[in-house]
Amino acid sequence: MGENNIEQLQDKGGSRNFIEHEIDRDLKEGVYEGVVTRFPPEPNGFLHIGHAKSILLNYGLAQEYGGKFNLRFDDTNPTKEKSEFMDSIISDVQWLGADYEDRLFYASDYFEQMRDEAVKLIRKGKAYVSTLTADEIREYRGTLTEPGKPDPDRDRSVEDNLRMFEEMQSGSVPDGAMTLRARIDMASPNINMRDPILYRVAHISHARTGDRWCIYPMYDFAHPLEDAFEGVTHSICTLEFEDHRPLYDWVVRECGFAHPPRQIEFAKLYLDHVVTGKRYIKKLVDDGIVDGWDDPRLVTIAALRRRGYTPDSIRRFVDLCGVSKANSVADDAMLEYCIREDLKEKAPRMMAVLRPLRLVIDNYPEGQTEEMEIENNKDVPELGVRRVPFGRELYIEREDFMEEPPKKYFRLFPGNEVRLMNAYYVRCVGVDKDENGEVTAVHCTYDPETRGGDSPDGRKVKGTIHWVSAAQAATCTVRLYENIIDEDKPVYNEEDGSLNLNPNSLEVLPDVKVEPALAAVHPEDKFQFVRNGFFCADRKDWKDGAPVFNRIVSLKSSFVLPKE
Ligand code: ATP
Ligand code: MG
Repeated sequence: MGENNIEQLQDKGGSRNFIEHEIDRDLKEGVYEGVVTRFPPEPNGFLHIGHAKSILLNYGLAQEYGGKFNLRFDDTNPTKEKSEFMDSIISDVQWLGADYEDRLFYASDYFEQMRDEAVKLIRKGKAYVSTLTADEIREYRGTLTEPGKPDPDRDRSVEDNLRMFEEMQSGSVPDGAMTLRARIDMASPNINMRDPILYRVAHISHARTGDRWCIYPMYDFAHPLEDAFEGVTHSICTLEFEDHRPLYDWVVRECGFAHPPRQIEFAKLYLDHVVTGKRYIKKLVDDGIVDGWDDPRLVTIAALRRRGYTPDSIRRFVDLCGVSKANSVADDAMLEYCIREDLKEKAPRMMAVLRPLRLVIDNYPEGQTEEMEIENNKDVPELGVRRVPFGRELYIEREDFMEEPPKKYFRLFPGNEVRLMNAYYVRCVGVDKDENGEVTAVHCTYDPETRGGDSPDGRKVKGTIHWVSAAQAATCTVRLYENIIDEDKPVYNEEDGSLNLNPNSLEVLPDVKVEPALAAVHPEDKFQFVRNGFFCADRKDWKDGAPVFNRIVSLKSSFVLPKE
């Protein structure tokens, strides 16, 4: 965890973030009477953990100030948008608990109003139709060191501009032949202010407005207007828009809004070893490297949900990251820390044997079974107890037995005694092997006096292993994940910008033995499988009526919360 994060954590202790300070001041000075925020996704992909930060920040501010939070699809670019993405975005925002009530808006619903604002600007002499090509516009724009050159169309009359803007809308102008440009300042040191394009001609059908329009507004014109139409007060966006703020302010000022919104920028959330950024996630999906946008190895919100993250854990993570004006990278282990913290108090602790090996208790009566009463979570008594069947044949983890143990191996090996968790002490007395010499079963004897896992004579054992009764065990599939990025390399390949992938990011265990209660769970139920980690029943995949469990995280943590 970097120094930045620690500072932010300390900041969270008592003081408030810089956005709250700005809002406080605006309210005190009477700039606004209340607070309206929004989350404005472009529906061109699934949302990721960075968007979660933005959603929770905007929603959280609206809550804090008793204001309103809007969800608005920024669907002004008809080429990339898909309704699949809108559905996923709605579901993710709702799942995170950011309640937009009845305020779900579409930027495309404002196309008429936006056009009217453009006409207003033309009438004021603040916008003109340009016939330069895209290349020429770029060339005329100048550079950081050289001012731009005026567009030859810059001083055309208002009447001609109005007529030509009509023409742009009529369908007779081919794509790219004309644009509407703001008339600001070709010598501005800020290139965004050198007569930026407000409208382009594009003969493309739009998912919501069909063929009604063949002109579409540019982001820098559309976005401030959308905010203003909705009465948004604080338009919170990420740092890359800082240089666009003068243009944002120009648009809302020239269009004459009485209480124009103001833009505030904060730093994007980045995570170590993690691919955020829709472009890269889309490529992993398109290349078939992952199984869709919600593949549990990704950090889309849908993927995190499917993996087993809870909204509370994501909220905790975003809070720990804090809100900052300087770019920083959060430790990906912190995300894992947050779900462990959340689930350790919520999840029942059950037994599942990932790589089973048969264990036979030679002196346990054949045909006998009993039930062990086991607390579901010994730290949370309210989670109750369950009865777990126990019998002569069990499954244990293959790695809990070694024929020739190294030093300090305290689990089962010939002659050694261990505790079967919450059951009995057993001592290994022999093994069965197949023709290749592979151990197929471990033989033990048990001590009936140790029921419950304690010895009345105070005899100590160093190893405790978990088990599942063979006769009643259910079989299911478990998926184990590693980071999809090779953590020993940079995320992006320096030569071609491709991702450095970890070829072992998914391991499927098809023959996992679980206690019978685990066969009857619901999608998204979460458990600790003792010693193996936290797991979630996949919300999509159920094989032959049996759940598939995704490992959310292991139990070990490399992350330590810094002391305040
Ligand atoms: P990306 O390219 O990373 O997927 P984007 O900015 O293109 O993101 P939009 O749909 O345009 O995605 O963004 C919706 C909102 O989410 C914007 O306000 C944007 O600033 C915010 N946002 C996007 N990425 C992050 C991030 N990593 N951290 C915080 N906020 C983000
Ligand atoms: Mg974008």
